[in-house]
Amino acid sequence: METVNGVVIREKQIGESDKALAVLTREIGLIEVMAKGAMKINSKLSGSTQLFMYSKLCLNKSKDRFYLNSCEPLDLFYNIRLDMCKYALACYFADIIHYTIQLNEPCDIITRLLLNTLYFLDNGKVSNRTLKTIFEFRHICEIGMMPQLLCCRRCYRYSTDIGLNMYMDMKDSTLLCEDCKNELAKAPEPLPDMIKLSPKTVEQLRYIALSEYKHLYKIKLNSDEETVLSDITENYLQEKLGVVFRSLNFYKSIEFKEKEHG
Ligand SMILES: [Zn+2]
Repeated sequence: METVNGVVIREKQIGESDKALAVLTREIGLIEVMAKGAMKINSKLSGSTQLFMYSKLCLNKSKDRFYLNSCEPLDLFYNIRLDMCKYALACYFADIIHYTIQLNEPCDIITRLLLNTLYFLDNGKVSNRTLKTIFEFRHICEIGMMPQLLCCRRCYRYSTDIGLNMYMDMKDSTLLCEDCKNELAKAPEPLPDMIKLSPKTVEQLRYIALSEYKHLYKIKLNSDEETVLSDITENYLQEKLGVVFRSLNFYKSIEFKEKEHG
């Protein structure tokens, strides 16, 4: 018997009454768990096997498969399941994890990132958009694809302190300062696709990539900054992973409708 603390990031009904779960745990990473009888109304497992619940799980292991023996909820994240927009965003986070994290490999930092993000998504103290940008960018950094954010790749200047715009080369994950970009634009070879970043945007990306977890969610973004950053982090994640998640389109369509109706 093994006891772990984990959050359910995917659930699938198997047959009449069983559930197959993907659970992100602090102790043993992402695992697949069979919950026998969890679909039955009176099952003692039904409460803790719903999407985005964080629970203490007692598991039996047999032939490399985990079976859920018993569970005890630790955090219900109740508001996420009541609010369609929050729910859609959480599904997007779950898809990113499922796509990038190997089964049965320890990933304590990713579990922490997800749990912290769900915590603020649930209590609403940080906006959905800010959480989206934090999760997208910090996740891609944590899995080893952090761009070189420190200085211009050509002249090595830090640049934000002298107020220069920077350009992010999405393909090779580096920055080029405005001066160097103008210089290179004179050469006959075409420049790669680059996204323009204001000094402030560069500072915000550095903050999300590098700040300690206890400070990460204190970032304050106004509505324009959220829009700019959300586009950049989304594009960067898509460029690095080479995939567009359907759950992201779903989240965006709900967010758009909510805005339209005030
Ligand atoms: Zn430069």
